[in-house]
Amino acid sequence: MARIAFIGLGNMGGGMAANLAKAGHDVRAFDLSADALAAAKAAGCLPIDSAVAAMDGVEAVVTMLPAGTHVERVYADAVFAAAPPSAILIDCSTIDVATARRVAEAAQAKGMMAVDAPVSGGIAAAKAGTLTFMVGGSEQAFRRAEPFLSAMGQAVIHAGGNGAGQAAKICNNMLLGATMIATCEAFVLAEKLGLKAQTFYDIASVSSGQSWSMTKYCPVPGVGPETPADHDYQGGFAAALMLKDLKLAMQAAQDAGAATPMGERAAELYTAFVGEGQPPVDFSGIIRTLR
Ligand code: NAD
Repeated sequence: MARIAFIGLGNMGGGMAANLAKAGHDVRAFDLSADALAAAKAAGCLPIDSAVAAMDGVEAVVTMLPAGTHVERVYADAVFAAAPPSAILIDCSTIDVATARRVAEAAQAKGMMAVDAPVSGGIAAAKAGTLTFMVGGSEQAFRRAEPFLSAMGQAVIHAGGNGAGQAAKICNNMLLGATMIATCEAFVLAEKLGLKAQTFYDIASVSSGQSWSMTKYCPVPGVGPETPADHDYQGGFAAALMLKDLKLAMQAAQDAGAATPMGERAAELYTAFVGEGQPPVDFSGIIRTLR
């Protein structure tokens, strides 16, 4: 079993670090929050009082941080300063493709191997160890990261070179944001045309309008499997995080010169929804504003 530094023990990282400890690894955990550190300790990790100290003698470094700026800072101040050059560096945060590539290049310049490995699946999947990881990096780096990722997820897929994991993540979530809005619109129009939500679901879920947003994550309460819609849009995937991913997708589209008009519109609609100042809700709650 390996010694691992785990930096960022929030909603997602807390459960992920716990699963590495459960798999028998020696997890050296650090977060700026004392509460997060205490929870990691209770879950079998060893709390450490600085990111630099957590790097001592590790085989792997896992980061699960809010955004690219946090990742760059932790890499510059702690990982590159104190991790052994042989450690495999695994960033699971959702960040922009450009930063992911920059961090990997900096690692390479120091003779270190790095992968970007963002996740699909929310807090419950992080806790249950059923995340999907999409991994960007060399074949060799992927092979080294894979056993650690497998202890935290049920699918680990090599997407390509550095940045490819983040590219897959934001393309997937751009598609999800746009299909969720389209699904909400279809239900609202169906209602206004006199169709019962259940009837429309029964038809569309076996017709060409079918999507994950409809059959696995239906935005209408009481229809389809249990979803955040059945709990007043609490839990699930926060609309603010969907907006974060859509903004990353729009930045990437601009940088790559790709036309993404539906993604742009989805970003506008989620910007308006999140900006309404209501308490945090699941991203399927956008149906409320369409109504
Ligand atoms: P979070 O805000 O709950 O956790 C982030 C943690 O990082 C916090 O505990 C914070 O204290 C810590 N942190 C910030 N800067 C730090 C530093 N310099 N050193 C040490 N710790 C630091 O966020 P989260 O929901 O766990 O999300 C983490 C990442 O996962 C984000 O990039 C997010 O987009 C992505 N993600 C989240 C979900 C979800 O459902 N929450 C799903 C998929 C992907």
